[in-house]
Amino acid sequence: MTKKTLGEYPRETLTDQIVVVRVDYNVPLDPDGEVVDHTRLVRTLPTVQYLVEAGARTVLLSHLGRPKARPEPALSLRPLAGKLEKLLGSAVCFCPATTGPVAREAVQGMKSGDVLLLENTRFCPEERRNDLAWAEEIRYGTKLFVNDAFGAAHRAHASTKGIADAVRVAGGEAVAGFLLEQELRFLCDAIADPEHPFVAVIGGAKISSKIDVIEALLPAVDRLIIGGAMANTFFKARGWVVGDSLVEEDRIETAHSLVELAGDKLRLPVDVVVAPQITSEASTRVAASDEVREGERIGDIGPRSVQSFADELDRARTVVWSGPMGVFELAPFQSGTFGVARAAASTADRGATVIVGGGDSVAAVVAAGVVDRITHISTGGSASLELLAGKTLPGVAALSDR
Ligand code: ADP
Ligand code: MG
Repeated sequence: MTKKTLGEYPRETLTDQIVVVRVDYNVPLDPDGEVVDHTRLVRTLPTVQYLVEAGARTVLLSHLGRPKARPEPALSLRPLAGKLEKLLGSAVCFCPATTGPVAREAVQGMKSGDVLLLENTRFCPEERRNDLAWAEEIRYGTKLFVNDAFGAAHRAHASTKGIADAVRVAGGEAVAGFLLEQELRFLCDAIADPEHPFVAVIGGAKISSKIDVIEALLPAVDRLIIGGAMANTFFKARGWVVGDSLVEEDRIETAHSLVELAGDKLRLPVDVVVAPQITSEASTRVAASDEVREGERIGDIGPRSVQSFADELDRARTVVWSGPMGVFELAPFQSGTFGVARAAASTADRGATVIVGGGDSVAAVVAAGVVDRITHISTGGSASLELLAGKTLPGVAALSDR
């Protein structure tokens, strides 16, 4: 870690101090606007709890969804204040403004140990513009900014980058909260110096979305396992029939060069689950990967592939997994992903470091019932991938150096 953390900041000086914390409460909403999953709130509790117990006056900032730079009631953070209050076990106030007189008054009225959640930062056009005057406003005069929003750290917005710069200019400190610190430790440190064998499992829909991650991990890993729709493009590159499966025609060259680059590190599925259509009622068959027929669609990896990937995971001391092995959302195509999830969990049970990142991958380990056994579940979708790809995240870069 090259960045300062909340844990290192002198705790006694927090008493009565206004501390502005950027959290990532960009929770998934169902079509009726109900919150589907509160994991992102739960993961910030160590930081918020710590500040409350230290007697700080904690101001929370977050975005939710993609409002068009103006208030949209459906994307208000108000319902989350009540949920956070229950999780935290102490009062959380909500302010229906992010800046301006109402918000200022609410911040000024806080007492030691209070928590105040301000309204969705993206209701204000200044947020995405990284407007520096507005960043100074949301600083609320504090000398301590805590960034605990890993999922937003890949954005150079006012509440991630601008405010950190403003605090440092004012002679204060911008530090990583406990969640951000944990994410950086696992995704950077563990991978910079991994225990071997180090196995990467990459799947999901597209090569194009993970190519940077694959290229960054390849020199470090002992095995690169590729599954999901991504594998189809590799099959096609070998000249095999893939029927009507999802293929990225414009990535066949990429697949060729990855095969070259990876050499004998690469493992592709030896068998696949195919069906005429990818639906929840599809009648499926298992085929060797080079025996798919015209008109068929690949929806999952087959049982022999699961076994061979599980054997690789069994030997691993470090595992990074991003991207499901098939269309795990539909019952006929979930065995591959769930089988690999169980193997990854068993590896973690034996003390290996197992890291799962990516929105759908995390949903898959939850659905497989093994989420609690995984060493580290990364809360950032795009941010996790960018960090794994070795990119610098603007929200992290803006924090105070050690
Ligand atoms: P993550 O969010 O974990 O990074 P991706 O977004 O890259 O993962 O990919 C997840 C999606 O890939 C899932 O919705 C899954 O249904 C889809 N997928 C996986 N395998 C296949 C396949 N063989 N055919 C079609 N879609 C697939
Ligand atoms: Mg996804």
